[in-house]
Amino acid sequence: MAMAQTAESIGANVFQFFTRNPRGGAAKPLDHADVERFLAFAAERGIGPILAHAPYTLNAAGAEDRVREFAEATMLDDLKRLEFTPGAMYNFHPGSHVGQGAEKGIELISSMLVRIASRFSKKPSTTVLLETMAGKGSEVGGKFEEVRETIDRVESAAPDALALGVCLDTCHVWDAGYDIAGDLDGVLARFDEVIGLGRLKAIHLNDSMNALGAHKDRHEKLGKGRIGLDALMRVVNHPKLSALPFYLETPCDLQGYRDEIALVKSCYKQ
Ligand SMILES: [Zn+2]
Repeated sequence: MAMAQTAESIGANVFQFFTRNPRGGAAKPLDHADVERFLAFAAERGIGPILAHAPYTLNAAGAEDRVREFAEATMLDDLKRLEFTPGAMYNFHPGSHVGQGAEKGIELISSMLVRIASRFSKKPSTTVLLETMAGKGSEVGGKFEEVRETIDRVESAAPDALALGVCLDTCHVWDAGYDIAGDLDGVLARFDEVIGLGRLKAIHLNDSMNALGAHKDRHEKLGKGRIGLDALMRVVNHPKLSALPFYLETPCDLQGYRDEIALVKSCYKQ
């Protein structure tokens, strides 16, 4: 509830939150009365969809059993809890294959999602989003093809068991080499061809500290990085994207987010 009030106080109508400490660990027990207050507030004020973010430490493609077991147990727990806020979205970084190869990484990630889906008696109401990554180190998801293959594998092994979508992070795709500043239409056409724009459910709106294709993943404040404000506002206003929820992950404090939200709203044309 406090998160929703904070979001509203800075002019937001959506928000993203960590389900637990971003570096991992146990989640706080659910306060059901607080969940009820949140649901009423969100419905009344038109806040949503909310986007839950898995801890960064979650690595479904890890080489060690305990790393993968932690990822699976954490995601399962998160998705069970999210059923109390129906229709939410859950974003995760697909994982790093740590030298096992992207193919093996995709196999590990998709098989984990299939096992998680099998633990629900009916299809979860939450849409699970694979985030596009910068391709830093051995990250899986730096190429649209890897995201597509992961989704395909889950859906062929467990048809209609889990709603799967994609969250496009503007900093990550830029760092991965997709030129959203110089050729946004081309990147979206490529996304559509490989993954399908129908899968795109959310945007992480970030500038990048690094050059196109740097494979680094360092978020920057809007307009202060290498993508630039004009390009980011073309993303916000693109007819294929403008109806999507946008979430900031810029290195800001609360006042900084308030300013960025006002900036985006002032440039938003619809
Ligand atoms: Zn992101």
